Amino acid sequence: MFRKYLLIVVVFFGILSCENPDSRLMEASFLTRPTPKIEALLAKMTLEEKVGQMAQVTLDVITKGETVYVSDEPLELDLTLVKEAILDYKVGSILNTANNRARTIEQWNTIVSEIQNIAVNQSRLGIPVIYGIDAIHGATYTAGATFFPQQIGLAATWNRELVRQGAEITAYETRASGIPWNFSPVLDLGRDPRFPRMWETFGEDIYLASEMGKQMIKGYEGQKNEVSVPTKVASTLKHFLGYSVPYTGKDRTPAFIPEMELRERHLPAFQAAIEAGAHSVMINSGIINGVPVHANKDIITNLLKGELNFKGVVVTDWKDIDNLHFRDKVAATRKEAVKMAVNAGIDMSMIPYDYDFCTYLTELVKEGEVTMERIDDAVRRILTLKDELGLFEQPVTSLSDYPNFASKEFELAAFDAASEAITLLKNDGTLPLSRGSKILVTGPNANSMRTLNGGWSYSWQGEKVEEFASGYNTILEAIQSKAGVANVEFVEGVAYNHQGKYWEEEVKDLDAVIAAANRADYVVLCLGENTYTEKPGDLHDLTLSTNQLNLAKAVTSTGKPVILVLNEGRPRLISSIESQVQGILQTYLPGNYGGDALAAVLFGEVNPSGKLPYTYPMFGNTLVTYDHKPSEEQNKMEGMYDYESDFAVQYPFGFGLSYTEFDYSDMEFSRGSIDSGETLNISVSVTNVGNVEGKEVVQLYISDLFASVTPDVRRLRGFEKISLKPGETTRVSFEISARDVAFVAKDLCWTVEAGEYEVNIGELKSRFSITESKTFNQIKKIL
Ligand code: BGC
Repeated sequence: MFRKYLLIVVVFFGILSCENPDSRLMEASFLTRPTPKIEALLAKMTLEEKVGQMAQVTLDVITKGETVYVSDEPLELDLTLVKEAILDYKVGSILNTANNRARTIEQWNTIVSEIQNIAVNQSRLGIPVIYGIDAIHGATYTAGATFFPQQIGLAATWNRELVRQGAEITAYETRASGIPWNFSPVLDLGRDPRFPRMWETFGEDIYLASEMGKQMIKGYEGQKNEVSVPTKVASTLKHFLGYSVPYTGKDRTPAFIPEMELRERHLPAFQAAIEAGAHSVMINSGIINGVPVHANKDIITNLLKGELNFKGVVVTDWKDIDNLHFRDKVAATRKEAVKMAVNAGIDMSMIPYDYDFCTYLTELVKEGEVTMERIDDAVRRILTLKDELGLFEQPVTSLSDYPNFASKEFELAAFDAASEAITLLKNDGTLPLSRGSKILVTGPNANSMRTLNGGWSYSWQGEKVEEFASGYNTILEAIQSKAGVANVEFVEGVAYNHQGKYWEEEVKDLDAVIAAANRADYVVLCLGENTYTEKPGDLHDLTLSTNQLNLAKAVTSTGKPVILVLNEGRPRLISSIESQVQGILQTYLPGNYGGDALAAVLFGEVNPSGKLPYTYPMFGNTLVTYDHKPSEEQNKMEGMYDYESDFAVQYPFGFGLSYTEFDYSDMEFSRGSIDSGETLNISVSVTNVGNVEGKEVVQLYISDLFASVTPDVRRLRGFEKISLKPGETTRVSFEISARDVAFVAKDLCWTVEAGEYEVNIGELKSRFSITESKTFNQIKKIL
């Protein structure tokens, strides 16, 4: 059947055929093919039962409470409403928490058990419900769970092992909460710092995001995607495709992305994660080239399910079928919107508040507007996911099976991840601080667990963090515990309005800050952002707020050494104060152990090893990524027109200092040229030439010197994080093939062109050549 469908697609859209189809794509999926068990179940199902499986509602809908938007506290399921959802509408999935607040694992266990009891024991076919949640940096909505840095911080570790381990722990604690389906990771690229969800990404680079994405999938799902093991969860790749680069920088506003760019930059991380076996995909809530992605069959069916051969579940984002009618105006009615989205390839609708989707879809099938084949395809995927998760055998986990929940071991993993994320951006020698000195700690981020965690922490926007995380150390508390309370003074200077919008602030007494700075040996100035995500996190000006810049100017005017600690989801511009401070540490959103990790770095117990996963911009009009085109960075033009292009970054992608120094030498290539099927080994020696042990990220970049499409100036194509004692040397090697230097050519095929390529590791540079041109895969033009 699928094959026949593919054929139709090919004929209909026409095919841009490249030579040498890349067979990897066609064999990609780890998911098992439809089993007799699922086929037999499908055969027994009525249309209403099938449609119900495709429906997902939010928890507030089935709890006691005045409306579907609120629940009574203490929280209790309303069994009449649960039965209405599961027995009347045959709903197959529930998501989210209630009242936008974290719950204990005991509460989760009760909620999920009661739901499954009705689904399994009272529904006609006994099909379990699949519960989904956003456990994006730990089990976000489980009180007491272990919280890791947000993805942008994990990317800054450049440590594959830490990312995998963090995902493993998150999976364990999510399953301990009875929940088997995680809406993570985000594989959108953080290429525009104006975007409010930049911190939910692995940063701007395609290779880094692909590598970290694969690790996260393996951490969540297991090395062989053995998600039936009840310490694993099914992962969800978000938000397919091109979500993070809207034209205005604001969430869910239109994006204009040429297909070449879509394939070259936005697709590879998703493709790698699909090849790594990810079980589900969530669709981009935005609009690309005028078409809402939820209505785009070319992207959902032809590209994702066809070309990438994705066999898992495709779920909408929140309310996004309705958005086709209410927001994007491409469907004249809500029913038309259901038809568009399901025919585009959606398998499950995150509705989330009513059951009209079920009514409309049932009617559409009866009217012949949606085929039974399309419904069967969706339901087969959903039932297969439930089956692979083992939900038919064990619909709910048992609390006693999770003795490691919130254990010391998990805490250490989170601390390590936070420590390795922290990125030293400037140091005139003031860092590490000496113990026994007098320190002023100031700034709105100094004494806040909320800002260390960011959004999606105990609630959507993170505003309830203090209530749940008072047991962990803020930056101030961690510094006090290292330096002694008597040595640390705290004057806030600027405070966030925690009841207001994320950008609202209040200036406290700046004279008091200056007086305290004058009494201190050092100032630790903690600036950045309050918490936000999605639309509420839209931003008008990337520059750090005026209040915070004034605070910085006040403390730097005292002449005391100032260490600027940044705690922010996106790189806010600091160019007006950067030269005035003696040291800068970027913490990103490091999670509950971020304060402790920062204090360990400040006092030299941890040698910083984070590297920027994005380009830190200098000005609002110099937003650029490291893999830009040559024309964006021109040298002075010779002759009478003497100009240079304005290229100003504060800190480059991949940058981060250490308390020691590393020397790179002896770069060697196993050969000087390769053909399109051969590989090349590139190795280099790295020596710790300083006085303390340290970790270094060895980064390999390749530049295509000339190509038929103007090439990016350089591209990351390998990295290894190593640890060296003072005086120690190690050799690091990378394997490079022609596929690694391919690009999407004008005909949309991944292509390598014969010619010279420059390799760059540290300060070392050398060239190799590729002897023959080749196209790698078969492409159907989709847009
Ligand atoms: C977000 C998704 C999230 C979903 C469910 C949406 O608003 O865009 O990232 O997974 O809500 O909570």
